[in-house]
Amino acid sequence: MNAPDRLTAAADAIERTMAQGLNAVLAYERETVVRQVHRDISGPLAGRAIGIKDNICTLEYPTTCASRILAGYQSPYEATAVERIKAAGGIIACKTNLDEFAMGSSTEHSAFGPTRHPHFPDRVPGGSSGGSAALVASGAVDVALGSETGGSVRQPAAFCGIVGFKPSYGRVSRFGLVAFGSSLDQIAVFGRRVQDVIDVVEVITGHDPNDSTSLAEPPLDVGRPPADLDGVVVGLPVECFPDDLDADVRAACDRAADAMRAGGARLRPVSLPHTELAVATYYVIAPAEASANLARYDGVRYGQRRGADAGREAMYRATRGAGFGPEVQRRILIGTYVLSAGYYEAYYGRAQATRARIAADYRHVFANGVDLLLTPTTPGPAFRMGEHVHDPVAMYRADQFVCGANLAGLPAVSVPAGATGAGLPLGVQLIGSVGADARVLSAAALLASHVAGGQLQ
Ligand code: GLN
Repeated sequence: MNAPDRLTAAADAIERTMAQGLNAVLAYERETVVRQVHRDISGPLAGRAIGIKDNICTLEYPTTCASRILAGYQSPYEATAVERIKAAGGIIACKTNLDEFAMGSSTEHSAFGPTRHPHFPDRVPGGSSGGSAALVASGAVDVALGSETGGSVRQPAAFCGIVGFKPSYGRVSRFGLVAFGSSLDQIAVFGRRVQDVIDVVEVITGHDPNDSTSLAEPPLDVGRPPADLDGVVVGLPVECFPDDLDADVRAACDRAADAMRAGGARLRPVSLPHTELAVATYYVIAPAEASANLARYDGVRYGQRRGADAGREAMYRATRGAGFGPEVQRRILIGTYVLSAGYYEAYYGRAQATRARIAADYRHVFANGVDLLLTPTTPGPAFRMGEHVHDPVAMYRADQFVCGANLAGLPAVSVPAGATGAGLPLGVQLIGSVGADARVLSAAALLASHVAGGQLQ
């Protein structure tokens, strides 16, 4: 297909998905997609339509973070990842729905309405990057960008039956990614095939002087994935396989482990003793950083303003009270509390110390001969809409297997690994050491090809 036909086909596919009422798309214009053919569309992503989570700044569309406070906000610059995608010939197709400011695990916390699961409309697609996941899973786009602070790409990838990869912290520039928890945030990638994810990751990685935490590394080059897993040591953390683990999730992991063993890998039980503390640690650190990052939405510098005539304090209160939804307000309250004088040491200080222990657990395992870790991605399949939305702690707990990699800055991927008896997709997760992004992606490609070959079914 030539480039204009490709773009027309891409626009048609997005419009078909939009007509299904998934509410996965926050901004799209046929004209914006089709007219990008006038750009020089050559390069490794030539003519590929890419969905962009709406907390990543683009020039093509507004950037709202699915928040009333940024409704209609047009960024004056674009994220480095977006700039690189365009330079590689990629097409910015649409902006995708998310939990407000990427806070959530279901995309039910969007100010613009929840996104539905693409194949099970009474269920959530996961979150917070649920719009990107739903679009990729429904076939509207081949790849999409999401963001990860604590699993927001791997978890929806598992729920929707697709691949989701989070790079090592610092591997992809955060310039133009709206900040949530700056020490955790990374742009991350969805695809139906591992190779599609690799194609995008190779384009968006590499040092960026606009992000002081960006690693001084060249763009990732995964190369040709090896033909087998000969000599690869895969650790199975005992803490991720508790006795009460869901039977379908355990079966998915067993199938993945068998496939890796059949591919030549050696499997070994390992221990990450602080695993149990990961969720509590994450839900202190992420809100603490969020409360500082979201202080900028004060009605003066960005987006919506309310109560401008009532004095400064009243304007802050009116703007933030009306602009932020309940989950964002909850995070700001928790974050402000754990950072406040008198509580700082008891909460934030201890969470920082625990984070260091969690990271040390991983380092210890990787320093002792383990190349990759295999775990479930989620404790169960996609939950029903409304099931957890009024029980934040239950929603937070569902992040137990994913948030460790964010706390430790590790590369990690979720690969589809079959389904429950009712056909709900399940994912398994591979985690590597800092900088082992290529190894994680190569192993994921092999694992996924075993799925395609029927060995995991
Ligand atoms: N579920 C996590 C949270 O609500 C993850 C968010 C994310 O990765 N952006 O904070």
